[in-house]
Amino acid sequence: MTTTITPLIAGNWKMNGVRASLDELTALAGILTTGDAPRAIVVVCPPATILAAVARQGATSGILAGGQDCHPAAHGAYTGDIAAGMLADAGAQYVIVGHSERRAAHGETDDLVRSKAEAAIGAGLKPIICVGETEAERDSGRAESVVAAQLAGSIPDAAGQHDVIIAYEPVWAIGTGRTPSNDDIAQMHNSIRRQLVDRFGDKGQGIHILYGGSLKPQNAREILALDNVNGGLVGGASLLAKDFATIISAV
Ligand code: PGA
Repeated sequence: MTTTITPLIAGNWKMNGVRASLDELTALAGILTTGDAPRAIVVVCPPATILAAVARQGATSGILAGGQDCHPAAHGAYTGDIAAGMLADAGAQYVIVGHSERRAAHGETDDLVRSKAEAAIGAGLKPIICVGETEAERDSGRAESVVAAQLAGSIPDAAGQHDVIIAYEPVWAIGTGRTPSNDDIAQMHNSIRRQLVDRFGDKGQGIHILYGGSLKPQNAREILALDNVNGGLVGGASLLAKDFATIISAV
C-alpha cells in the first residue's frame, strides 16, 4: 500500500531567538505567502519564551508552532521545566523530544523520551521523536541497530492511534556541515519505515520520517527527494527566513 504523506519541514531554533527574531518569522511568512503555496507543513520550534508569540504570529500565515522539549509530568514541583499542556496552552501543536543535544547534555534515556512523547500525546501535541547514531557507532557499522533500539525504546505504543513524527538526525551531522551520503540516508529511512510498519501496520506507513543534520538550501532538494524522507528538521538554516524558505520550497 502506498500512503501519501504531506511533507513536513520543522525549524529548530534551539537556544536562539528573542522577540526581535519575530522579524525573521514575518519575513518567512512574507516569502511563503507570495508565490506558490508551500507544499509542506511548516513548523517553527522557537525557545519557550517566544513560543506564544510565534504561535500567534504564525497563525495568520499557516506557520505552526512547536516546543523544543517537555516534561513527562502534567504539572508539579519541577523548577525550570515545562509541561506539554503548557506548550499546548501557548499555542504549540508539536514538540521535539529526545533531541541528541538533550540526550547528551541532560542524560535523557529512551525511557524518558518515551514518557515525554506520551505526555505530549496526552496534551494533544504531536511529538517529533529524535533518534540518531554517533560517528563512532556509524564507523563501527552499528548505525542501524542503534537507531532501531532508540526507536523501539522511544516511541510509545500510543503511536498506533495518535500522530507522532520521527526525526532521524545523525549526531555527527548536526551543526557540522557534514551529512551522510544519499544512499546512507535512504537506507536508514527505509530501515526506520520497515520497523514502523512491523510495529504499527498500516499506521506505520503514514508516519513522517524527517531527516535532520546540516540540512541546507544547497543539499535540501536531493535529500528531501529520497525514498521515505518525508521532510526535514532544520537547525542552523532555519534561523534565516531566506534559507528556511528555500528548504521549504525544495520539497
Ligand atoms: P542543524 O541542526 O541543521 O544545525 O545541523 C539540526 C538539529 O539539531 O535539529
